[in-house]
Amino acid sequence: MRLLVIEDEEETREFLKVALEEQSFAVDTACDGDKGAYLARLNDYDLIILDHILPLKDGFEVCNDIRSSGKHTPILMLSVKSEIDHKINLFEQGIDDYVTKPFSMSELLARVRAILRRPKILQEDEITIDDLVLNVQKQSVSRGDKKIYLTRKEFSLLEYLMRNAGTVVSRGMIMEHVWDSESDPFSNTIETHILNLRKKIELPKKRKIIHSVPGRGYKIDLL
Ligand code: CA
Repeated sequence: MRLLVIEDEEETREFLKVALEEQSFAVDTACDGDKGAYLARLNDYDLIILDHILPLKDGFEVCNDIRSSGKHTPILMLSVKSEIDHKINLFEQGIDDYVTKPFSMSELLARVRAILRRPKILQEDEITIDDLVLNVQKQSVSRGDKKIYLTRKEFSLLEYLMRNAGTVVSRGMIMEHVWDSESDPFSNTIETHILNLRKKIELPKKRKIIHSVPGRGYKIDLL
């Protein structure tokens, strides 16, 4: 899952990035409304965390920019309670939910997960393919009785592949959803991670799960 954090306060922005990355999210950041709106229209994020008061464009203007470009990316707004005019209906403005500052990371994470679980994007805490089970809440993976230990990046990659089981996922899609914008798209980092994932989840006498589709990408399937 790839998130965008649009927040002008450096401390909050960096805190969010680090804390969300610890939860295996890929995180891009923007420090003003202009850059945030630009990135949100350019990339296909799974969720945007948007501060209300921002330089250049405020949160509502950014949200309006995103919605008018035809993107339905869920938006979680951060706001100081007194800043929100209660006459404004946030949901009519295209905001999916909001959290008031100061917030605790556990509260924010609960909201993020709740939004990502909404049926329109079909998010489940636990995904199962054959006897491979990935649990997002517990950040755990197992195959049969065997616990599998993955790096954060391997976990995100496997989660993305499992959520798209049965369909071919291209390198571009993986780049877009699992890696952040600072990654080098020409490096062999995806191949390396796929190779490592296979070593960990493809076990002797078990059915093969990750398939390469020559020239197109990868597919998780039970063939
Ligand atoms: Ca602010």
